[in-house]
Amino acid sequence: MSEQKIDTRLWSSKARHLSPYIPGEQPKQANLCKLNTNENPFPPSPKVAQAIAEQLNKQAYGLRLYPEPESSTLKQQLAKTYQVQPNQIFVGNGSDEVLALVFACFFMKERPLLSPDISYSFYPVYAETFGVDLVKIPLQDDFSINPDDYRQPCGGIIIANPNAPTGLLMSLSDIRKLASEHPNAVVVIDEAYIDFAEPQQIGEPESVSAVSLIDEFDNIVVTQTFSKSRSLAGLRVGMAFANPSLIEALTRMKNSFNSYPLDKLAQAGAIASLQDDAYFNKACTKIIELRNVLSQHLAELGFSVLPSQANFIFARPPEGNAEQIAQQLREQGIIVRYFSQPRIDEYLRITVGTTAQNGRLIEALTGLLSAS
Ligand SMILES: *Cc1c(COP(=O)(O)O)cnc(C)c1O
Repeated sequence: MSEQKIDTRLWSSKARHLSPYIPGEQPKQANLCKLNTNENPFPPSPKVAQAIAEQLNKQAYGLRLYPEPESSTLKQQLAKTYQVQPNQIFVGNGSDEVLALVFACFFMKERPLLSPDISYSFYPVYAETFGVDLVKIPLQDDFSINPDDYRQPCGGIIIANPNAPTGLLMSLSDIRKLASEHPNAVVVIDEAYIDFAEPQQIGEPESVSAVSLIDEFDNIVVTQTFSKSRSLAGLRVGMAFANPSLIEALTRMKNSFNSYPLDKLAQAGAIASLQDDAYFNKACTKIIELRNVLSQHLAELGFSVLPSQANFIFARPPEGNAEQIAQQLREQGIIVRYFSQPRIDEYLRITVGTTAQNGRLIEALTGLLSAS
């Protein structure tokens, strides 16, 4: 942090009153065991780097020209992969940007936006940025979401599924219920972690993604990202799936703000990632396996572990001294996420790492717990 005193005299009152989202830290320290921001511990498909290199080398001065403004080639590939129409897809510079445009398009309304009291901490920030009245609906005592709690007049609903930081998954029938009970509100399902879900575990047959509902419901928007399951957090690619009329609103909002949100390299890399299905499926299966093993090990150490359907685990240490444990782990070069927030201040959110990283974490925790 700079010591310099910031002079806000020339700022708009909007800028002066913002309270920005604080992302998990990205320290430069070597040999750090970084389990704090839910990045994928495995590299992306090697085809991504190849495609980006080709893009740079193929046509001389490829970067001289602007990229495709509507990312049409990428949308065509997404349409193929997700079995939807290209006009049901919107892409942006990370799903955070897509979500910001979603707030501007669908939530700046008279009626309040409903969202769980414990969820992605960017939602309240967007709400403030766009002047949206956000009403927080408490999760149940077991941290699950009860759709009946959302039965009240609203201008929109946003829920992360699996939810963050709990990792719990809501069923498709509950999402259906929300969408059909609020035909005049847009229901946004943020599926940043959906590729790590194991549907059979909650008695669902196949996919639990709400993308399968966008033909049936004209008021569902599903957002996803390349950042977690596709190991491309650094490339910044996110997308939304919805009925073409909602997609058109997002496109107009984007074009009133930045007509080229995805650069050429990002578009090429994202397409290559989608084309390597085998790699993607294998990587997701591996993370799910590692998650289940790590959950088991944490439980054996006496942690209360929520049944995660994501690439992170939300767990309460046996004494509930989460902040202290996070601090002690940091002293050993292991960083996990702690939220000093009511209801969850005795929990840690731990990103699933490689076998070696998870082993290092368990070893450190074993030492800490036996010393106390
Ligand atoms: C990581 C995350 C995002 C943002 O992903 P980007 O595509 O990297 O912007 C959105 N929602 C949730 C719940 C996330 O955890």
